[in-house]
Amino acid sequence: MVGRPNSYPVSPALGDTAASIERQTTSLPNLMELPSLADLLDVQSLDLQIDRLLEKRQSLPELELYKTVDSRLKELEAKRDASADILRQLDLQLDKSDGELEILEAKLKEHETRLFAGGMSARETEYMRLEVQGLKGQDEAMEERVLQMLEDIDPARDEVAALESEIAVATSEKAKLEASIKEQWKKIDAELARKEERKREAVRLIDDDLMDLYENLRRIKEGVAVASYDHNVCGGCHMAFSPAEQEEAFSSDLPRCVHCRRILVA
Ligand SMILES: [Zn+2]
Repeated sequence: MVGRPNSYPVSPALGDTAASIERQTTSLPNLMELPSLADLLDVQSLDLQIDRLLEKRQSLPELELYKTVDSRLKELEAKRDASADILRQLDLQLDKSDGELEILEAKLKEHETRLFAGGMSARETEYMRLEVQGLKGQDEAMEERVLQMLEDIDPARDEVAALESEIAVATSEKAKLEASIKEQWKKIDAELARKEERKREAVRLIDDDLMDLYENLRRIKEGVAVASYDHNVCGGCHMAFSPAEQEEAFSSDLPRCVHCRRILVA
């Protein structure tokens, strides 16, 4: 009836605590005239149910998924920020080159106008002609650069957009997981509150010293302090008793397993 839970904290000072619990037993008999062992077994059962609920609360599969999605989201956001930075720089460079191109074209137009208007000396005309030629070369190179920048900017913009949509998917997945976790926690917490309330009621029927012993045993016995005794076997450690061991254990007001020292309820 009392199952062995998967994992429980075990006191590091196992030896000392075990010894003190041994001493505790010897001081108990006068208090144990009518030990409410059946009630204690109820408390044990409730405690194990509470332990399982707490374990379940912390090991929902959605919690693991949530962590995965959350770290993926952080990675995506970091990538998006880096890509957005590159895009911003490309945009700035493009703006700057556009501006330079405008200035260059204005200068070229002005020179051409002067050249076409004539009225300059042959030397001045030749100088201006060469100037215009040079400016045209610069203008073509700059146009080439701007076109290249426009070509570079499109993939960068696409990358940012693709990352944004991945982020949107991950964000909605994270929100769904969060809602599911909260929903399950709400149910578990309500169940925990019910069990805790039932435990409080059951504990009221049990002697304080017996409760202390129980709590101490629970700490060092993987959460199971009380075991059923059935067909000569301790339900806590699953070891069998010889007739003499059984006689010895059950001659006490507070029967304890001769093997694991758990409290036995026949
Ligand atoms: Zn045992």
